[in-house]
Amino acid sequence: MTDAASELLSLLERADVLVALFDGFDRLRLANAAFRGAFALEPGETPTWAEIMRRNHRAGRGTVIGAPDFEAWLLETQARRGKTAKKSYETDLHDGRWLLMTETVQENGWMLCVASDITGLRATSRQVRQARDFALKAAQTDELTGIANRRSITRHLAEALLRPAPPGLRLGCVCMLDIDHFKRINDTFGHSAGDTVLRHFSREIMELVRRSDLFGRIGGEEFMLVLPATSAEEAELILGRMLFAIRRARPFGAENGYAYTFSAGIAGYCAGDTVDDVFHRADMALYSAKVAGRNRVFSERG
Ligand code: GH3
Ligand code: MG
Ligand code: MG
Repeated sequence: MTDAASELLSLLERADVLVALFDGFDRLRLANAAFRGAFALEPGETPTWAEIMRRNHRAGRGTVIGAPDFEAWLLETQARRGKTAKKSYETDLHDGRWLLMTETVQENGWMLCVASDITGLRATSRQVRQARDFALKAAQTDELTGIANRRSITRHLAEALLRPAPPGLRLGCVCMLDIDHFKRINDTFGHSAGDTVLRHFSREIMELVRRSDLFGRIGGEEFMLVLPATSAEEAELILGRMLFAIRRARPFGAENGYAYTFSAGIAGYCAGDTVDDVFHRADMALYSAKVAGRNRVFSERG
């Protein structure tokens, strides 16, 4: 290690700011003493961010979570976490401290979190900013499932298509996912059972996406997955794993035994493509998968 890097690490350990580094799978790789203190971590521990949140929540430590359903909150937060290169927000801790948290994400998914104590700032301006953060979050979230909504996923895809890159260079894949015979689920078990299946599907797929991927609900029982830097062959493998996971999952519990399937279409996207064009091509591939008998994935031809 260079002198500067080792000095930096030793200073960080003594600093008041909270500093942590997470890898692309959201596993903690480095945390200074201030961060470990706030989130009750032992030196050298490397839990995932979700594990840190879950165990602190259980122990009434760390971040104050206002939401009544902790697991729903976790899913929603994971769906948005690290999806933008830079983000800052405010958060309060059970010990009474108020933090300004800044997240910086590398292309490869590694994330630097730096938080400073802003407990001294006036409460009213804090409340206004928190209300704004809440509204921003709601504008990007699908209310039923807690994952990204159509607006959010369209905006992210549009940004990805505008990246400076040679026109025609393949940047990644967009996948359209549609639950099979969903109308039957509603007709047989009722609309609220249909909603349960939509939430179940969102949770199952979220378990299988990487930080750099984007997964959102486009509407009804249609979902979209954006896989940056992924070939069509890799996308087929990823979707294959998802088909397998959904086939074996039981949305109403193991004792009920009910199972469902979905179909998916994959289209590559290149710098300079339009969102509409990519959506349309993924939709055509999805249509082919439906016609071929459902419960399968198709890539666009060509
Ligand atoms: P296919 O295999 O061809 O996709 O058939 P399908 O029945 O899944 O597709 P179709 O588009 O015919 O039906 C979609 C149904 O989804 C119709 C609509 O009532 C239902 N739906 C749309 N949004 C919601 C929702 O938010 N909750 C519930 N429970 N149902 C919804
Ligand atoms: Mg359907
Ligand atoms: Mg549909």
